Amino acid sequence: MRMAQRIGLPDDGERLLDDLETLAGLVDDSLPGWTRSALTDLDVDGRHWVLARMREAGLDAHIDAAGNVIGVLAGNGSGRGRIMTGSHTDTVLSGGRFDGNVGVASALEVARSLRASGTTLAHDLVVIDFFNEEVNPHGLSCVGSRALTGALTPAHLAARNQEGTAFGDALGGARVDPNRMHEAAMDLSDVIAYVELHVEQGPNLEAQGTQIGLVTDITGVAPFRSLFTGRQDHAGTTPMSVRRDAGCAAAGTVLAVETIASEQETSRGTSGSITFTPDAVNVINETAEVWGEFRSPDGEWIAHARERLAQAAEAEGAKRGVGVELEWLPSEEPVPMSEPLLGIAGEVVADLGLSHSRLYSGAGHDAAFMALQVPTAMVFVPSQGGRSHCPEEFTESADILAGAEVLLNTIVEISVRHAVR
Ligand SMILES: [Zn+2]
Repeated sequence: MRMAQRIGLPDDGERLLDDLETLAGLVDDSLPGWTRSALTDLDVDGRHWVLARMREAGLDAHIDAAGNVIGVLAGNGSGRGRIMTGSHTDTVLSGGRFDGNVGVASALEVARSLRASGTTLAHDLVVIDFFNEEVNPHGLSCVGSRALTGALTPAHLAARNQEGTAFGDALGGARVDPNRMHEAAMDLSDVIAYVELHVEQGPNLEAQGTQIGLVTDITGVAPFRSLFTGRQDHAGTTPMSVRRDAGCAAAGTVLAVETIASEQETSRGTSGSITFTPDAVNVINETAEVWGEFRSPDGEWIAHARERLAQAAEAEGAKRGVGVELEWLPSEEPVPMSEPLLGIAGEVVADLGLSHSRLYSGAGHDAAFMALQVPTAMVFVPSQGGRSHCPEEFTESADILAGAEVLLNTIVEISVRHAVR
């Protein structure tokens, strides 16, 4: 089989690290860590900065109707179809400066490295900074990749934040017109690969002492909301035996989430939000609301976990005369990555003299939406202490540069193998 020559990053990757530094400066200084939330002026500035860098790098670039920044580096036309790479530049509140940004800055660097090395791919290379990947105040994530893949629905635009504002009405802050967002849906039938570089956001690579992670699957997520309805009574005069304490039924259910999710190495369960009403020390709760989720790369396990939680919540309610409503919110199925692309990336990693582990992603990514339509691969680089979505998030420069080199050469190799000879 014909193999592509391996290419290095020009200037030892200095420009890539400079770009990350610049993006790290475009943040809300009033909060600790790094904050560039979607739907804010800062995020608009960040995406326009990416647009300018793309144009500077010689890409034909624009911002689409869903706020995605898209740049195309033309190939020589000898291969059919396109290759895509990218990530996101929005952050969570008080997050880190690497999540998403590493993938976008590296994708840009891939385009620049190709030009610097005089390499013209057989395929057009599409570099993308997806709009609003992190969960926004309307409970939505991966907005840009949903729109690009045609998966954004009117129900998403109607999703309300705590103040009752619909997501569609909040999009003005991002300079996105909700009525035109569907125009961002792209025909992806000619895309032969989407490859995303990202920080791991977990402890596995560090624990195993490997430099590169090749992602086998992206986790499924099954979020739920449960409401427990009991009876409000006096905390001092109501005997324990006759209480209908909604808070206790909710607490039992929270513990059941922990027990169920502890069954498997790869399963996760979290009850991230609980509200007692009334919220008072000396009153028995009338209602309690719990929001939580299960995650696993195994769809069958998620189905099993749902059943077990429903039984557990019913039992917790029944023993206290408390009514239980358990509602499953729109979920995401686990998504496998492309085995042929993982194979190519694995060869590139070995060729570059780097070590790697295969692992699944417990975090959601734009790649999960892309993978539903195009062959997709994700490459991880280590996160120090496994920390992410916090100011302590850190990845060594050497690891970022190694990841960018893997991304670059994987894309070149994919193009060479798909070239029409
Ligand atoms: Zn991310």
